[in-house]
Amino acid sequence: MNTTLKALPVFQPGTVWLVGAGPGDPGLLTLHAVNALQQADVLVYDALVGEAVLDLAPADCERIYAGKRGGRPSPVQADISQRLVRLAKEGKRVLRLKGGDPFVFGRGGEEALSLVAAGVPFRIVPGISAGIGGLAYAGIPVTHRDTNSAVTFLTGHGVGGEVPDGIDWAALAKGSPVIVLYMALKHIAAIAGALIEHGRSPSEPVAVVSQATLPAQTILETCLARCAEEVTAAGIEPPCIVVIGEVVRLRAGLDWQGAAEGRELDDDPLGLRHRRETG
Ligand code: SAH
Repeated sequence: MNTTLKALPVFQPGTVWLVGAGPGDPGLLTLHAVNALQQADVLVYDALVGEAVLDLAPADCERIYAGKRGGRPSPVQADISQRLVRLAKEGKRVLRLKGGDPFVFGRGGEEALSLVAAGVPFRIVPGISAGIGGLAYAGIPVTHRDTNSAVTFLTGHGVGGEVPDGIDWAALAKGSPVIVLYMALKHIAAIAGALIEHGRSPSEPVAVVSQATLPAQTILETCLARCAEEVTAAGIEPPCIVVIGEVVRLRAGLDWQGAAEGRELDDDPLGLRHRRETG
């Protein structure tokens, strides 16, 4: 075996590894994640972690579901944290597997702090977040030199399910050329409205990427003024990433999955060559 693979860490009994599983495509797992899956005694996983990833664990690895799916009630966060502590104290190798990156809107920090409080040793393994890697599968870079040198990642969901409060919409509209929204479907109309109200153009491009990186991935390209109604009309369901900004235009050039299926790509999707030539 290659020395890099051999040097991957040993999962010690009585420890918890908090691991990001990426947005869905198992090919986007890290070597640390695969290494963890191969050694775990128990897997505590979220709704967004798919079967293809879970199947990498040994057949005798215990699986504990800790997410919301198919109408099953969501376990209370404190219960999940306490469960991780209990399993570790029983001497198990506990793999806490989360969609995307555990520290991006994933409550990974809260769970890790519970482990600290209980004196349980842990390791954090970052993952590819849906708001970056998921968009790359749609052919949308989160930054591009000609469009933006800043990007904001925003949750569309407050603690109680409302539009998150404490957001300075005026500052966001003015200061962040690209806004990437997680969990935004329910409040997309309110969010788009607030951005337009604070000066963003109603025709600004928006893309809604559902089931990013998975075989069922769909992409809706729309604009700020129409995104809410078009999401409803298209019957789009979560999980989705919504991206607002000029970077969406780059998809005409960077839709590599579309290209593999015959789409002709535009090597000047922002129209810069034309602008340079004429102006
Ligand atoms: N920790 C995760 C985010 C968890 S919050 C990460 O870093 O990606 C859950 C939200 O993530 C979903 O509501 C959705 O907005 C987004 N998400 C996760 N996986 C996704 C996927 N495959 N496609 C689209 N959105 C996804």
